[in-house]
Amino acid sequence: MILEIHEITPEILDCDLSSPEIETITFDDGLYTQFLNYKHFLQFKKPMYFFVSPAIVATGSQDPTLIECWRAHEIFFKTGKTAHYMSWDNIKEISEVANIGGHTFSHPNLRDLKLTQQLKIAKEQVELMMQAFAEHNIKIESFAYPYDYEFFGFKFLLGKYGIKKLFGETRTTIESYMMKKS
Ligand SMILES: [Zn+2]
Repeated sequence: MILEIHEITPEILDCDLSSPEIETITFDDGLYTQFLNYKHFLQFKKPMYFFVSPAIVATGSQDPTLIECWRAHEIFFKTGKTAHYMSWDNIKEISEVANIGGHTFSHPNLRDLKLTQQLKIAKEQVELMMQAFAEHNIKIESFAYPYDYEFFGFKFLLGKYGIKKLFGETRTTIESYMMKKS
């Protein structure tokens, strides 16, 4: 299975992820607390992917407080504050030991939009995202759909950049994995 992690809670840090049934560990949204804890996960020796939206990268001071992922997003969407997210330096450091993947440019929710709007936004998002990763010299070969909404247009748009590893709702959330174990 492919595990999906957002905010890293103390319970997650207590959880043994060495089981062979876990093939891959993914981290969505580029939270700063993921950067502060990424070394913990190296012991499990699994392929790891960190999915980042380049518009949501810390530019100033960073806040190490553990915050729920949806709350951090809410703060960003309302105020533009990126203190709960990784910086490009953080992302670069992680890229030495794990994969960095795309997560669109600014994490839009396409779910309830009309098809023409979805296509227009997806195209803009992929172009801006690829441009930003190139500017920061980060090579990406994977992508996670925001909100795990598997809009088909992304597959086509990303294929043009050779990105074929797409992650979505077929992942198992760490919360449900832990529930099953307990
Ligand atoms: Zn996300």
